[in-house]
Amino acid sequence: NEHAKNSWEQRDMQSVFHGFTDLETLNRNGPVVLTHGEGIHVFDVHGKSYMDANSGLWNNVAGFNHQGLIDAICDQARRFPGYHAFFGRIADTTVALSEKLIRLSPFEGGKVYYTNSGSEANDTVVKMLWMLHRRNGQPQRRKIITRVNAYHGVTVATASMTGKAYNAEFGLPLPGFLHADCPHYWRYARPGESEREFSERLARNLEEMIIKEGPDTIAGMFCEPVQGAGGVIPPSEGYFQAIRPILRKYGIPLIADEVITGFGRTGEMWGSVKYDLQPDAIVASKCITAGYFPMGAIILGQELADALTRASAAAEEFPHGFTAGGNPLGSAVALKALEVIETEGLLENVRRVSPRFLDGLNRLARHKHAGEARGVGLMGAVELVADKATKAPLDGRLQIPERIANKALEKGLICRPLGQAIVLGPPFIITEAQIDTMFDILEETMADVF
Ligand code: PLP
Repeated sequence: NEHAKNSWEQRDMQSVFHGFTDLETLNRNGPVVLTHGEGIHVFDVHGKSYMDANSGLWNNVAGFNHQGLIDAICDQARRFPGYHAFFGRIADTTVALSEKLIRLSPFEGGKVYYTNSGSEANDTVVKMLWMLHRRNGQPQRRKIITRVNAYHGVTVATASMTGKAYNAEFGLPLPGFLHADCPHYWRYARPGESEREFSERLARNLEEMIIKEGPDTIAGMFCEPVQGAGGVIPPSEGYFQAIRPILRKYGIPLIADEVITGFGRTGEMWGSVKYDLQPDAIVASKCITAGYFPMGAIILGQELADALTRASAAAEEFPHGFTAGGNPLGSAVALKALEVIETEGLLENVRRVSPRFLDGLNRLARHKHAGEARGVGLMGAVELVADKATKAPLDGRLQIPERIANKALEKGLICRPLGQAIVLGPPFIITEAQIDTMFDILEETMADVF
């Protein structure tokens, strides 16, 4: 490629091994090396600005230079920058954050456990469930149910939980990780089936899977309220209402993976509230620090918290933890981020501008290759097809979604190709005028590419 010797791009390509990056595109176009951000824009080493319609990776929701967040982290850094949360020791700020998370959660009470990422948090819950069932005299309860198109992370267990084909590259999933149906009505409904009938069929399939596997071999089920990396898939109508009683019937805990949906993305503080999941625990990350610090948190509802505390006491401890989990810098910035989201108008803004965002998606849906536009709050996708009527997918060799994303990047817009969809998840501070600009660029880009 044309990047000059010793340019940041060349230096990146010689020194960085990129994950989740198409290496052919990288070799052709080079990386985008960034220096700073302002509001919803980031700037590269050449001074070019990009509107980030993905909020970093769903997490930079308060803007890239929020002074309150910067001050919170700096103040904490001056006072007490780092400490672990083991052996009965913890930073005061982390205790305050735990109280706040429980207050914000849909639970009456509970306890919080900290990690550095969403993957680690989901992985940790798997170990929590395994230990809990073992201590409760059911050591055979080890199987984990997730769903096709789910994304729960990249560790060995959470990649096994993720329902994406690329994990075959690692010989995953491991045995004992089961994938139930994906509640994507547009893609998987049978001809003539209503949305409710579809949800009920999926629930029946789930119950059949549980019975076939043996109900007392299932440790738990994990669900994203809206599947994110699977291509922004809100649940079909009545889906969670249909599966919830089945899980209760067989004593299977439901874990809501709210790594994307937590803290306002859907227009509600929790996707679990929006879609009435009634989970036993919530896994949170991403927006918890508005992207200013790596942090994952497991919010255990009261019942699960009590059961785990008893199990841990019987085992003397919960033998698991991350050196930097609950780090005070992360805790301080999380406390501030939650305040900004809850009381400084961010959640309110998501609700205010969401209709404009959904209108924009519908505008794109008029394109002859747009099969479905779907979204909720400030998360959305347009799924591209070869033929609107048959929903036949595009020829994968043409890499149309990648080409759209690359072309949009040239025009100064960051969006994400995911499978056959273009995915958007702008920062919570986005204005209606910026939303219009975002869709203008996308419309123009789609006209260029097709
Ligand atoms: N769960 C969901 C729903 C996610 O979207 C992600 C990341 O995108 C994860 C888990 C994994 O989080 P992390 O990348 O912080 O490990």
